[in-house]
Amino acid sequence: MTSRRTRDRLINALIEQGIRDERVLDALREIPRHLFVDEALESRAYDNTPLPIGHGQTISQPWVVARMSELLLEHGVPERVLEIGTGSGYQAAILAKLVPQVYSIERIGALVHQARQRLRAAQLFNVQVRHGDGYQGWPEYAPYAGIMLTAAPHQVPTALLEQLGVGGRLVAPVGGAGAQTLIVIDRTAEGLTQQRVAGVSFVPMLEGRQ
Ligand code: SAH
Repeated sequence: MTSRRTRDRLINALIEQGIRDERVLDALREIPRHLFVDEALESRAYDNTPLPIGHGQTISQPWVVARMSELLLEHGVPERVLEIGTGSGYQAAILAKLVPQVYSIERIGALVHQARQRLRAAQLFNVQVRHGDGYQGWPEYAPYAGIMLTAAPHQVPTALLEQLGVGGRLVAPVGGAGAQTLIVIDRTAEGLTQQRVAGVSFVPMLEGRQ
């Protein structure tokens, strides 16, 4: 169920759905998604669907992970990436294959603990996970050349825009339940520009730690 063939089928589905970046496809080929879900769900780990990870949260659909990663790398490989919403650690693991250093924040303590273990088991040592509130960002390592939100706020938090470096890109779902849009914000020397990419469905970005 976690065989090469099952995994290749997922990659082929992603290619059919428009994912073109070979670096991203390679990262999804290499990172075993079944290591980031509970054993009971392993047989569905290579379906192109989101899956529950406990605490009312979900691991994102592989297409969404791939598309957001592609957008983040579109104009070059960012040196440091900040992810908001570590969850299972899967998106962080994909980013760890693509960029030199990943910083990821998760508000639910139990998920932080589990994600750290999974990332270690996958031998990925260039990801730091912090138990905190993503609304504050992670100022110590700012500015970031890439910021990715995997939970949806109503508006992109100001602190995150402030921590985006010149030439950097932020990828995020924004909006309320059932009406979210994936957006891309670029910071140029002149200021911020924004594009809408697609309709998406993410869990909400909530304030405070738990
Ligand atoms: N990237 C994750 C997606 C998990 S779902 C993965 O690959 O599995 C989104 C996650 O965002 C949830 O775990 C949720 O607890 C977390 N989250 C929501 N609001 C947050 C906030 N303000 N700060 C940090 N994490 C947050």
